Amino acid sequence: MRRLKTFPKGGVHPPGNKHLTSGKAIINAAIPSISRIPLQQHIGSPAECLINPGENVKEGMLIGRSTGFISAQIHSSIPGVVKEVRDIYLANGFKSKGVVIEMEGEFDTLGKRQEKNNWEKLSAEELLNIIADRGIVGMGGATFPTHVKYKIPKHAKVEAFVVNGTECEPYLTADHRLMLEKTEEIMEGARIVDKILNPEKIYIAIEANKLDAIEVMQKAVSLLNKHAEVVPLEIKYPQGDEKQLLKAIINREVPSGGLPIDIGAVVSNVGTIFAIYEAVVMGKPLIERIVTVTGGAIKNPQNLKVRIGTPIGDLIEECGGFSEMPVKVVAGGPMMGFAIYELEAPVTKGTSGVIALTKKEVKSNNQTPCLNCGRCITVCPMGLNPTLLFKEIDHMDYDSAMEEGLMDCKECGCCAFMCPAHIPLVHGMKLGKYMAKKKKEKG
Ligand code: SF4
Ligand code: SF4
Repeated sequence: MRRLKTFPKGGVHPPGNKHLTSGKAIINAAIPSISRIPLQQHIGSPAECLINPGENVKEGMLIGRSTGFISAQIHSSIPGVVKEVRDIYLANGFKSKGVVIEMEGEFDTLGKRQEKNNWEKLSAEELLNIIADRGIVGMGGATFPTHVKYKIPKHAKVEAFVVNGTECEPYLTADHRLMLEKTEEIMEGARIVDKILNPEKIYIAIEANKLDAIEVMQKAVSLLNKHAEVVPLEIKYPQGDEKQLLKAIINREVPSGGLPIDIGAVVSNVGTIFAIYEAVVMGKPLIERIVTVTGGAIKNPQNLKVRIGTPIGDLIEECGGFSEMPVKVVAGGPMMGFAIYELEAPVTKGTSGVIALTKKEVKSNNQTPCLNCGRCITVCPMGLNPTLLFKEIDHMDYDSAMEEGLMDCKECGCCAFMCPAHIPLVHGMKLGKYMAKKKKEKG
């Protein structure tokens, strides 16, 4: 058998635990009676609120207009009455101004047959405008506005467009299920992106733990009418990170501080491609997403199609509640996600998973002094020295940490995963980046 491609430096093999949901078809979650929709669900400036308390909104109506170059539109996920415009706590602990909507009135699209739009006659610019209007952002968790990513500088040429179906985070299977259940829609979404970017080649990257998805995508790849191939990849975390993915597939390195387009590449998650299909072909703004609700402490783990703004606690209830008290509930994947302290926090465009972990699933966190074992250095896919960076940050020596490449840290969590001393290395990196930026701003 041909050796599977992967990135050469570092990486780890955490237990996948995908079996809990990988065989279960996506089901619709209950529509929330109250939807809390943050105006900041993306990287960049928050959207500007367009409505006031007491006003009626329709399903899919624009309620937040993007502001500035990097921003995204926000739409109402349910029809109803605006109860409040106030700060909302997000799953990552940050606050965002948001709109609280109480459900009332008719759904415009739910349960109704929608006509498909004939997009083939539209220009690349018109397609890009639709993607911007419908609020599409990177659905793999990065939430970078897609219309900004696809605005390619004049001097640049897209040689490789990569559809990212790796889903390398343990437990998550939303992308896996999408590839199985929405294969043709994803291919049509990729054709739309093909028209916008006109890449020389399209790659569909899938880790080898999703053999059924590899098979269906291989059968459907001819729909792309272009030089396109499905690339099965070795199962290794963080295979889905853009930099690691491009190293594995086209053997090029994104320069420090650079972007994939600097090496002629653009990467988009399969969830994003599906959202593009829905936006362009079905005329639907980004008001729902697939969320994997799983973990040893969830009674009946599922992949749910969820309206944005639904409280995370509702999803847990929908999956039968807790089978035992979790020691930790995480939004996103267990490696890069955020511990949730407030189950009222809403699902946002970037919520790929909700994982309730038992004591058995969470490593003991009794921290001891560094053993100088060097394991964190061995596994860092960015070739950094996490133990040194952590010490520099601990001593508030942010300048030295920056010189050592702190900003190249992807916060992937490989170092903390391997650390036998349970040192909170990723937390340290995040803090260090924040402090270094603050220091720079102050001059
Ligand atoms: S979190 Fe940062 S320092 Fe740690 S392994 Fe990942 S890239 Fe390296
Ligand atoms: S893995 Fe942990 S104990 Fe080992 S060198 Fe890195 S920080 Fe120290």
